[in-house]
Amino acid sequence: MKNLKVAELLKSTEFDRIVNVKGWVRTKRGNNKVAFIALNDGSVIHNIQVVVDVASFDEEMLKLITTGAGISVTGKLVQSMGQGQSVEIQATEIEVYGTADANTYPLQKKGHSLEFLREIAHLRPRTNTFGAVLRIRHSLAFAIHKYFNDRGFYYLHTPIVTGSDAEGAGAMFRVTTLDALKPPLTETGEVNFKEDFFGKATNLTVSGQLEGELGATALSLIYTFGPTFRAENSNTPRHLAEFWMIEPEMAFYDITDNMDLAEDFLKYLVNYALEHNADDLEFLNTMYDKELVARLRSITETKYERLDYTEAVEILIKSGKTFEFPVSWGIDLQSEHERYLVEQHFKKPVILTNYPRDIKAFYMKQNDDGKTVRAMDVLFPNIGEIIGGSQREEVYEKLVNRMREMHIPEKEMWWYLETRQYGTVPHSGFGLGFERLVLFVTGMKNIRDVIPFPRTPQNAEF
Ligand code: ATP
Ligand code: MN
Repeated sequence: MKNLKVAELLKSTEFDRIVNVKGWVRTKRGNNKVAFIALNDGSVIHNIQVVVDVASFDEEMLKLITTGAGISVTGKLVQSMGQGQSVEIQATEIEVYGTADANTYPLQKKGHSLEFLREIAHLRPRTNTFGAVLRIRHSLAFAIHKYFNDRGFYYLHTPIVTGSDAEGAGAMFRVTTLDALKPPLTETGEVNFKEDFFGKATNLTVSGQLEGELGATALSLIYTFGPTFRAENSNTPRHLAEFWMIEPEMAFYDITDNMDLAEDFLKYLVNYALEHNADDLEFLNTMYDKELVARLRSITETKYERLDYTEAVEILIKSGKTFEFPVSWGIDLQSEHERYLVEQHFKKPVILTNYPRDIKAFYMKQNDDGKTVRAMDVLFPNIGEIIGGSQREEVYEKLVNRMREMHIPEKEMWWYLETRQYGTVPHSGFGLGFERLVLFVTGMKNIRDVIPFPRTPQNAEF
């Protein structure tokens, strides 16, 4: 007999046929005549109701069916007379695969705090909340590939182990096979990475951008979508040590094209979730955040405010607000500043451009004023920075000068510099933090709750 997923069964109108469904028991209630099992298989937020005529089954077997047990049910699919569901299954056969001791099963009761659920990350996918978050996460990942594929972008796989430590986006995790206690040393007493696996020091990547640029200057339109790693000790609700990033890179795009793409892309993704994850969003809206769906809608309808960093600083100073980090031209904006601009001042997403060059990476295109670069950050309500990007400096001399000023070893970056020596063209790109997007779309408050197994300082249990 064909096993059907709960998602399919709940939509079915082919009644009176015999079907099989497998899943985990959410609840069992009833009396000594009839029992009702709410069964969930993760395919959809809703459960299917299984009706059990107690007299037709072995009593001992029925006792094993408690919250959390994994079971297989065969029975007749019928239209439900009960409230709150359209179909139910009248069981004819039940097999218990695995029991879940009611005295110890951690999800025996509903309503655990998100903090507690983080401690049982191996089981939390079985809750309604994490089922919803994980299905939305999947949808968004799929939509990202669809968006780019439909627009002629090629998916480029950039390396996870990198030999360049010049990406400048944050502290890195070393990758090595050397003996940590007794590494080989050079004559001057330093670790001799020539004897390491790759013959040089290597790290986990913090960004695929530099390699992405190599792809874009050949295929024109590329994107990466993969894990990135940052060994920063930042214990915030918006930072992970391992997170996924989407980095499109486009030859022949200037900063305006880059902003247009970023805005269109974000609107598309949020719309995709609204269309394809309505049930899960409705659940999260009811349980956690009453403004979630309205906020998602508004983000797809409004035109994002675009302004210069300099204007933003003026607004922040004029606001008269006391921020934890005082504002002056030249500072790196903190999330409190970003959120003030988005949530209080403009009341819509903001794209900031033309940042001071001294707080931005070496590869960003220099403006003629000698002070600013063509960077762009997209700022979202509740999140702050969701996208960081720029037009890239394509003029060889300017790029090299900036690298020297910033003490970036140009020798090691010879392959990057050659893109500016051979057929250099204007190009742009950005990085979208995937978990920041999922955070926004689900309305969750902590980034640890939108990735199945979060990696943060002092935490890599699961
Ligand atoms: P922030 O200022 O918020 O620390 P950043 O400027 O270091 O971010 P970028 O290097 O510009 O970030 O990375 C591009 C995008 O990746 C960011 O806009 C953000 O969405 C995401 N991102 C950056 N760091 C993290 C992190 N530690 N965890 C999750 N997402 C991150
Ligand atoms: Mn950034």
